[in-house]
Amino acid sequence: MSEMIPEISVVLPVYNEAENLQSLHDNLCGVLNGLGRWYEIIYCDDGSTDGSPAKLRELASGNPAVRVLLLRRNFGQTAAIRAGVDHARGDIVVLMDADLQNDPADIPNLLERLDEGYDIVSGWRRKRQDPFFTKVLPSKIANWLISRISGVKLHDHGCTLKAYRRDVLSGISLYGEMHRFISIYGHWIGARVGEVEVRHHPRQGGKSKYSLSKSMKVFLDIPVLVLLGRFLTRPVHFFGAIGMGFNFAGLICAFFVLYEKLTEVDAKAHRNPLLLLAIFFSLVGIQIIMIGLLAELMTRVYHESQNKKIYVVRERINLPDGSENEKKR
Ligand code: UDP
Ligand code: MG
Repeated sequence: MSEMIPEISVVLPVYNEAENLQSLHDNLCGVLNGLGRWYEIIYCDDGSTDGSPAKLRELASGNPAVRVLLLRRNFGQTAAIRAGVDHARGDIVVLMDADLQNDPADIPNLLERLDEGYDIVSGWRRKRQDPFFTKVLPSKIANWLISRISGVKLHDHGCTLKAYRRDVLSGISLYGEMHRFISIYGHWIGARVGEVEVRHHPRQGGKSKYSLSKSMKVFLDIPVLVLLGRFLTRPVHFFGAIGMGFNFAGLICAFFVLYEKLTEVDAKAHRNPLLLLAIFFSLVGIQIIMIGLLAELMTRVYHESQNKKIYVVRERINLPDGSENEKKR
């Protein structure tokens, strides 16, 4: 089997999940064997300090379809996912948590939906089995906001259980804790994103790695999302619009001061607080426009230093890979 290129790669980030690994693995193998397609399972251990690495070694021994990556320290779930995806060989990549909260029994549904012509199929934990105030409520608010801002209408952006076409997934760079937004990045590069309902179980063994304060970081990721999504190739429009808004407000204030000066005989402009406001708004406006110009320079460095394109190709027909020409230039 190791000689065969698998069709499906299941990637699981693992951080201190020793208690869950055996039953997870048994369930997963049961489901995948029933599919009748070549598969591989990639466990990426994210610097666990419990018995997880030893357990993973045991699961992999004598089974080449099980591949294990041990990271040197805890880099976080996003990094663990990225590492696993970098080693995936299948055309289809399924991501899921290794804590048995996601259920492998949903994988066939995801794959079926993918076969209908989607590039990304996202799980929706409709009956989510997590604490209400620390997980479910913040996640509901975040999902609503993210769906509105990104234009990708999903009920559950945070669900790890998702199936992807690998070419879509490997074109997306991930930082921080942005694995929750892969479907959005996918949508931006033209992927078709679908959704299916999936099961969700309460955590039985081990502990959750995300406290409320950690979940709140999602809200800081949202402005980053806006900036990256809408303005990466034209930041001066983003900053410029805000700056011009300030300048306009400054102009209106200045106009009132001038009007008073011209119409009232003993008007004293320096006693009018609007004069200060006019100066303040104008300076802030100019500053913000300047930041936009700097950001323009930076996006050029971003795109050109890494040879990033401002477009994404789905398929080439009778055309060699464009990168050949790039090299010759
Ligand atoms: N995880 C990881 N590295 C981390 C934190 C979490 O690989 O630094 C893994 C963890 O083992 C699990 C998945 O990410 O498989 C989701 O974590 P968790 O279940 O704690 O999140 P929750 O479901 O509580 O949001
Ligand atoms: Mg969990």
